Amino acid sequence: VSALTWVDVPTGSDFTLANLPFGVADVVGVGRRVVVAIGEQALDLEALRVAGALPLEWLTEKTFTSGSLNPLMGVERRQVRELRSELTQLLQDNSARARVEPVAVHDQRNLAMVMPVAIGDYVDFYSSEHHATNLGRILRPNAEPLLPNWKHLPVSYHGRSGTVVVSGTDVVRPHGLVPRGDAPAYVASEALDFELEVGAFVGIGSPLGSTVSAQAAPDHLFGAVLLNDWSARDIQAFEYQPLGPHLAKSFASSISPWVVTIDALHSARVPAPEQHPPVARHLQRHEPSGFDITLTVSLSTALMRERGLVAAQIVETSFSSMYWTLSQQLAHITAGGASLRTGDFFGSGTVSGPTPSSVGSMIELTWRGDRPLRLPSGEERSFLEDGDEITMRGWTGEGDTRVGFGTVTGTVVPAQSTDF
Ligand code: MN
Repeated sequence: VSALTWVDVPTGSDFTLANLPFGVADVVGVGRRVVVAIGEQALDLEALRVAGALPLEWLTEKTFTSGSLNPLMGVERRQVRELRSELTQLLQDNSARARVEPVAVHDQRNLAMVMPVAIGDYVDFYSSEHHATNLGRILRPNAEPLLPNWKHLPVSYHGRSGTVVVSGTDVVRPHGLVPRGDAPAYVASEALDFELEVGAFVGIGSPLGSTVSAQAAPDHLFGAVLLNDWSARDIQAFEYQPLGPHLAKSFASSISPWVVTIDALHSARVPAPEQHPPVARHLQRHEPSGFDITLTVSLSTALMRERGLVAAQIVETSFSSMYWTLSQQLAHITAGGASLRTGDFFGSGTVSGPTPSSVGSMIELTWRGDRPLRLPSGEERSFLEDGDEITMRGWTGEGDTRVGFGTVTGTVVPAQSTDF
């Protein structure tokens, strides 16, 4: 237990005093509130404001009660820092405990976490060199794995913001057209996959017709979450050329409910991999611009849960190996003059490292089914089956300086029957 705050923060907790991530919860009896995680508890910020415990003149009744983090995400970065600093002091001040604890502290187990952000646009990138190389080898075995543009810009496609869902939402196996002999057939996907990613949220927007350079991008980044960009590889393989994936990824994209601020991730900053050839000026970055975040994926099958077996960790990797950084991705989104809006979201792309167990998708782990995974139950997996539950974790630092994301989890449920 940490001695830094009057809240019990268990050793190994993701939610230390150094973190203070924001989320939105249904609080019984009062409705949707912005909450902040500390240990296994959560602070109701509107309750703190009403109690006079957050003396910041820019806070309004709407800041914490709109049902999303958007009003808070749109304030100046300096103001978010002020708020986090007030919360830190409050959590360190033993004399505040008696006043604050009865009105504003909830056990996280009693809260239903909901989608934290009303997402505007959603773009998903393809920024891990290991992942892009692996996918190139698998999907286009007789060609150069990286296409000629890959080292010049962070390749991406536009995703579907309306189907970004919060952790815990079941994922219905999608249907789509896949090659079957002479003609494609509309069937339930037989190659359902996860993608291990970090997602980033835009805080302060930018006007239409203007651009944001990679060096200025951190001013527009509010925070990050874990992202599972579920993907149907058979649907993807048939549809993706020449305009990129669509239905293979639009059925669900799961995020963790706690948004970790870019300020809290400051201690994780590391230089990103050097870029050759040199990139265009608007994409040139200030180092350190990478983040040393450890990421893991666990898989639990229905049979494993039935037998009381713990989930099997199948991936461990690091976000520090990403070739293109969050700042470069944000800069790229605006490079043609597109505006940014508070709440816009973008995915890093699947995070894969250089070793067989550090890759962030099933298609890479099993090399499209050539090397099925063996699970503790004796089962094998090439892709995900109904009942499979995927849980992702991410963190940096340890002890009192650990900053973690919690988890993003989702269970695959059977395809809906179709009436044609
Ligand atoms: Mn993806």
